[in-house]
Amino acid sequence: MEYSGLVTVSRVEKYDPAMLRKAIDRQFALLGVEELLRPGMKVVFKPNLLAARKPEQAVTTHPMVVEAAADWFLARGITDITLADSPGGLYTEGLLKGIYQTCGLRQLEDRIKLNTDVTWVAKSREAGKYCKSFNLIRPIAQADLVVNLAKVKTHGMTTLSAGMKNLFGCVPGLQKPELHYRYPNQQAFAGMLVDLDELVAPAVTVLDGIVAMEGDGPSSGTPRQMGCLFAARDLYAQDWAVAQAMGLEPDTVPMLKEALERGLVCPEKIRLEGDPMPQLEPFRLPRGISLDFVSKLPPVFRRPARALMDRILRPTPKIDLGRCVGCGKCAESCPPHTIEIRQGKAHINLKNCISCFCCQEMCPVHVISVRRIVK
Ligand code: SF4
Ligand code: SF4
Repeated sequence: MEYSGLVTVSRVEKYDPAMLRKAIDRQFALLGVEELLRPGMKVVFKPNLLAARKPEQAVTTHPMVVEAAADWFLARGITDITLADSPGGLYTEGLLKGIYQTCGLRQLEDRIKLNTDVTWVAKSREAGKYCKSFNLIRPIAQADLVVNLAKVKTHGMTTLSAGMKNLFGCVPGLQKPELHYRYPNQQAFAGMLVDLDELVAPAVTVLDGIVAMEGDGPSSGTPRQMGCLFAARDLYAQDWAVAQAMGLEPDTVPMLKEALERGLVCPEKIRLEGDPMPQLEPFRLPRGISLDFVSKLPPVFRRPARALMDRILRPTPKIDLGRCVGCGKCAESCPPHTIEIRQGKAHINLKNCISCFCCQEMCPVHVISVRRIVK
């Protein structure tokens, strides 16, 4: 198949239904999305619904972006549209309903189905490099066409959360922490994510970068005006281009490095169409991300330097016990089960901690910070 590399950009300064509809119309026309439609097909939207947060907190895909995409498909006679995601933590019907409510999605119920089926289906792909089989939430596994509706954010473990990382929510509930445990280092985790991306293979990815997130993403960062809606059929080219716009070096983002090594992205062939990419001050990174100067060393020194850095500089979670409410959400999502709730407070045994920061992502009162020996 010929390499596409096409990424479309619309400057959209605020969540305005008319502006969003116009942007989606123009971008989907540039991408030829209409050619993919077949009468009666099942379309599944995969938003980022990490947790029950209000749209203005910039943790989740804004409901107006979902609405504009829904209206585009409905206007073309596609009526079987389901919105489905497995947020962080448990995957239950009750929790999903609460998330739809808080994330502002209930108003779309007259037009699209909000999934409440919490079963899953095993899917395999022999060509997977790190992982050949995943359990996928049922609507994604049974979709004719997946539309990835992600949010642009920084991320404590993967550096970037955009189109590629968003598909991790296709794995049901607490099977996500299990994958963190099976792939504990950054590169293996990135490799597993690319295998998952290749399996789900969304037909088109829309990135909500109107108000993005910087700093301690994906859930405790700061909303950051970016003023852009991105769309592409090429998931990898789009994440690469957006990483650059955020001031990241894309090949230091483990997922993108993995995609580059597999030949899934050709940076020199990425084409931008639509509005010009904004020139932005670099995004603030999560405190857990260190500068990757090891890759600048001669190859022979890299492995021992990385091992040493890992030992000395590895960031670890720190709980403000005074403010911890003892809800147990961190313990529930900790892959190696190294958090215990004692006398109404969470305690981490750091010996087993793999620095995945799932606990930080899930803490509803944001009392988990990143402790670094070198600031
Ligand atoms: S304590 Fe937090 S960072 Fe450490 S392994 Fe558990 S969830 Fe991950
Ligand atoms: S999720 Fe946060 S508030 Fe809840 S027990 Fe863990 S640290 Fe405490």
